[in-house]
This record gives sequence, structure tokens and C-alpha cells, in this order.
Amino acid sequence: MSWQQLLTIARQNEEWDRYWRAQQPRACPNDGTPLTASASEGTLRCPHDGWEYPRDWDPDTMAGM
Ligand SMILES: [Zn+2]
Repeated sequence: MSWQQLLTIARQNEEWDRYWRAQQPRACPNDGTPLTASASEGTLRCPHDGWEYPRDWDPDTMAGM
């Protein structure tokens, strides 16, 4: 494997990382319950344990879920 190939892979990983960080979560990171959208507040909330987006959102550990 060449350095050029490694560089290409690293750049692709960065792009995926950016993509997933830009996505809103569809389910609660704690229990997988589908989130309920609140149009008036612009938040997504888990009816099970009260997890809320973006308040409790941590893209470092939760992006891509
Ligand atoms: Zn939850």
C-alpha cells in the first residue's frame, strides 16, 4: 500500500466523519427508542428516558447512530 492510498483513505474517513456529524440522530443513543420531534421547540426527544437533541448530543461518541 502506498502513502498516496493511505492519504486517500484518511481523507475519506474525514468526509464520513463530517457527514455523520451533520446528521441528526434518528434514535436515542441510550436505548434506541425512536426520537419524537417537537416542531415548536426544534428538538428531538426520547419518550423513554428524556434524552434530548441537541441538548444531550455528543457527536464525538454518538454520531452515526
Ligand atoms: Zn432514550
